[in-house]
Parts: sequence; structure tokens; C-alpha cells
Amino acid sequence: MIPAAFDYHAPTSLEEALQLLGSSPDVKILAGGQSLIPILKLRLAAPEVVVDLGRIDSLRGIREEDDDLVIGAMTSHDEVARSSVVATHALLLSKAVQMVADPQVRHRGTFGGALVHADPAGDLLAPALALDASFVIVGPSGPRTVPAADYFQDMFTTAVGEGEILTEVRVPKHTGWGAHYEKFSRIAQQWAIVAVAATVRVEGSTIAQACVALTNMGSVPIRASATEQALLGVAVDASTIAAAVAGIAEGTRPPSDLNGDGDYRRHLASVLARRSVLAAAG
Ligand SMILES: Cc1cc2nc3c(=O)[nH]c(=O)nc-3n(C[C@H](O)[C@H](O)[C@H](O)COP(=O)(O)OP(=O)(O)OC[C@H]3O[C@@H](n4cnc5c(N)ncnc54)[C@H](O)[C@@H]3O)c2cc1C
Repeated sequence: MIPAAFDYHAPTSLEEALQLLGSSPDVKILAGGQSLIPILKLRLAAPEVVVDLGRIDSLRGIREEDDDLVIGAMTSHDEVARSSVVATHALLLSKAVQMVADPQVRHRGTFGGALVHADPAGDLLAPALALDASFVIVGPSGPRTVPAADYFQDMFTTAVGEGEILTEVRVPKHTGWGAHYEKFSRIAQQWAIVAVAATVRVEGSTIAQACVALTNMGSVPIRASATEQALLGVAVDASTIAAAVAGIAEGTRPPSDLNGDGDYRRHLASVLARRSVLAAAG
């Protein structure tokens, strides 16, 4: 399996990368290559030019900026998983990224790459939506910031356009919140058939705030706003939480495939939501 020939560039600055993106109508960005390389090898894409972002140091790293956590697009899944700053301020991301594939993929694959690839079964989309992350995208006319609610547009389609680069993801701090990512797949280290991302703030023995989103229940991640409302003031108790999340799949149109049909996925969503919220609430 050999990709079609392409010109390879590895710029060391964002400016240079943007220039290269404008140099041909048929350019592809390479991040960790975990999704793109198989696509090239299968010749599902045959770009003339590949621009590797791997040498642009400014795109890598995790930092705190006031009330936000800022994660560079080229930060590897493994770096996010090992970060104590992420675990402290965005525990949901920390837990979800540990569920991505296997150690090899987590070492090569990048946080930004997964969020641009936007596979509906990807594990980082729902947590980013639940945490109200925003996405900094740079193009020829400068940077713009897109909230998660507008960023995921369709299956494998985001607000990142031709000639643009996702540079960083800003995540509002959820310090002190409990979190859990409950993922269901048939075999270990595989894509989610369905998953539920939940992060909650508990006061005393009741849920004071809740953010919940669904993976692979549609072409984009789904924010479970009605369930979030239903959870407010609910006691941290298995039966009351089960009642509050029971309707989480209402109105969703999940895909049907060899892993399960829509009804099966809707059933899974409520089971996983109960487990996820209960675990998040401790
Ligand atoms: C065997 C295997 C199992 C996997 N299992 C899972 C799993 O369980 N859960 C999960 O969530 N993921 C899984 N993945 C996918 C993994 O998370 C990839 O890392 C991710 O989808 C792509 O990230 P990447 O850095 O490798 O991007 P690449 O493959 O390099 O790029 C992916 C796409 O995004 C574009 N792109 C990348 N970065 C940018 C950027 N900064 N700006 C603009 N465009 C950009 C590229 O042009 C390309 O179109 C799996 C992958 C493999 C190979």
C-alpha cells in the first residue's frame, strides 16, 4: 500500500505553513498521521502537496491562561493524558483521551488532528462540546475563534476551511468538577459504538451543575441539554440519576451499522449516561 507521490514540506513556523497551504489547490495538512496516512495509503486521497506541522513548536504544549486551559493542536494524546494541569482543570478531557485507541496511536496522534478529522466515533469531540471548548483557527486573513457548538458541522466536517490551520483549543477550567467518559465498544482499544461524556459539580450531596454530551449518536457530537437541566438539584444516588438521564436519547437519530441499530444505540445511551453521571458525581 503505497501512497501516490506528493511534495513534502515541513515548515518551522505557522506563517510558512500558511504560505505553503496557499501554494497549491491540492494541499493536505499532516499532524500525527494516524488518520491521514491510512487514507493516503488506500489512495482515498492523493494530494499534490503535504504540509507536516510536526516541526512548528508553537503548536505544541498545554498552558493556563486566566480561566482557560489552552491546548496546542499538535500536542499528542499522550501528553494530554499525562498532564496534571489537564487532570486538575478539565478532568473530563483527561479521562476521555485515555480511552483513545492504544499507546502507539496516543503517542503519534494529536489532540488537534483528532478534532479536525472529526470522526463521529472519535472520543474527544463530545468532551470538547460538553466543556464548551473554543477553537482557534488561523487562515490567510488572520485568526478567528469558533465555539464548539458551531465548530462541529457534519461527519468529518468542521469549521476549519481550506487553507486554514487549527492552532489551539481553549477549554474553560472546570476545576473541582467530577468527570467520567463511559465508552462502549465490542473489543478493547476500539472506536466507540456509543459513549457518554459527563462532568458535574456536586454541592453537598446534590448535583449543582452538569455538562453532558454524546459520542456517535449522530453525525456530530450531541449536547444533552435537557438531561443537564434534569440533573440539576438531583441527589447523587443511582435511582434518581437513572430517572434524570432516562430520556437522554430522545430526538436523536443515531446511525445503524453492523455494531448495532439505532434503537440499540438509544438504549445504550441511557445506560451509559447513568453510569457516566454516577461515576462523575463520585
Ligand atoms: C488503529 C487506530 C485506532 C484509533 N482509535 C481511536 C479511538 O478509539 N478514539 C479516537 O478518538 N480516535 C482513534 N483513532 C484516531 C486517532 O485519534 C487520530 O490521532 C486522529 O483521528 C487524527 O489525529 P492525527 O494527529 O493523527 O491527524 P492526521 O491523521 O495527521 O490528520 C487528520 C486530518 O486532520 C487534518 N489536520 C490535522 N491537524 C490539523 C490542524 N492542526 N489544522 C488543520 N487540519 C489538520 C489533516 O489534514 C487530516 O485531514 C485511531 C486511529 C488508529 C490508527
